[in-house]
Amino acid sequence: MVKFLDLKGQYDSIKSEIDFAIASVINETAFVGGKYVSAFEEQFANYIGTKHCIGVANGTDALEIAIQSLNLPIGSEIIVPANSFIATSEAVTNSGYKIRFCDNNSDNYTISIDDLKKQINDNTSAIIAVHLYGHPCDMNEINSIAKTNNLKVIEDSAQAHGAEFENKKVGTFGDVATFSFYPGKNLGAYGDGGCIVTNSDEFAFNSRLIANHGSKEKYLHIREGRNSRLDGLQAAILSVKLNYLDVWNEIRINSANLYTELLSKYDVILPKTKNNVKSVFHLYVIRSKNRQKLINYLNSKGIQTGIHYPISLPNLTAYSYISQDTSKFNAIKQESELLSLPMGDHLTPENANEIASVFEAFFI
Ligand SMILES: *Cc1c(COP(=O)(O)O)cnc(C)c1O
Repeated sequence: MVKFLDLKGQYDSIKSEIDFAIASVINETAFVGGKYVSAFEEQFANYIGTKHCIGVANGTDALEIAIQSLNLPIGSEIIVPANSFIATSEAVTNSGYKIRFCDNNSDNYTISIDDLKKQINDNTSAIIAVHLYGHPCDMNEINSIAKTNNLKVIEDSAQAHGAEFENKKVGTFGDVATFSFYPGKNLGAYGDGGCIVTNSDEFAFNSRLIANHGSKEKYLHIREGRNSRLDGLQAAILSVKLNYLDVWNEIRINSANLYTELLSKYDVILPKTKNNVKSVFHLYVIRSKNRQKLINYLNSKGIQTGIHYPISLPNLTAYSYISQDTSKFNAIKQESELLSLPMGDHLTPENANEIASVFEAFFI
């Protein structure tokens, strides 16, 4: 039996610290705002290497607020990779902009640089670079394309806490970057949470304003905004867990390397990691032409699996109104082949070996 993810096991390993943190927040009734939230914001900004971190209610809000902080031209287009979670594209529409899909590459599934160049037009205002599955996008290429075309860059880092591109953490490359602290992410809260990080004073100011009903000082609203807060309990829990993130990411990386070593002889396509990045393997996604049979077999042997994502964004019913022709995208052709293997800090070398022996039995 190999679990896809094991949040309970992780909690048990740090229970006393977590319980103490939770009790402290409650004792001090520091539920909303306050010292635990500011402490985590400072700790996370230091960890990523940005000047600002603004805690918000979840990763979806973080994206919407980050986009809105940029004051892009109304009605302009924002480029979104075809393979991502719907939060990425939803944030574009919900902020009043138009979605322009871009293909993903077939090696590490981040945004395809060749296709990105093709999707830019006079109405493009920004690019959302999703560090999908924990693998950093090519931020040199993206930033240089953005500069040439006068575009803003938003890094959706919801799956990539601690990932690095050329020895610098993701979240430091774009105009703004967002993280999700959904429980199953590499750094997860015990409920919802998210944040925006940036080096720009202006975008940080705008983000904080939007997340707090447009007010910097209580009851002085200089614009309309919304309520989106990271709460004290989540912040205190995240402060404890951030101390373990690098160790947990190392376990993921080692497991991924072991998967790559053990599974390369079977008829599946393994993810390829670029040599100038540190992927933090939020997910280990392979491709199989025989996906459903392989899933059934793995599941029958107690190996849990996932699919990220079963339907690419352009093929979702929600986007049937979008007329852009995406039929030639790799992301579209490959959506029926994607398969996620168990991945997390719970995974042991024995688990990886067990999975490899199930593959052996399936493929002989
Ligand atoms: C999880 C996720 C989000 C949304 O985060 P929530 O905290 O669930 O709102 C956005 N983008 C990507 C790529 C994600 O994986």
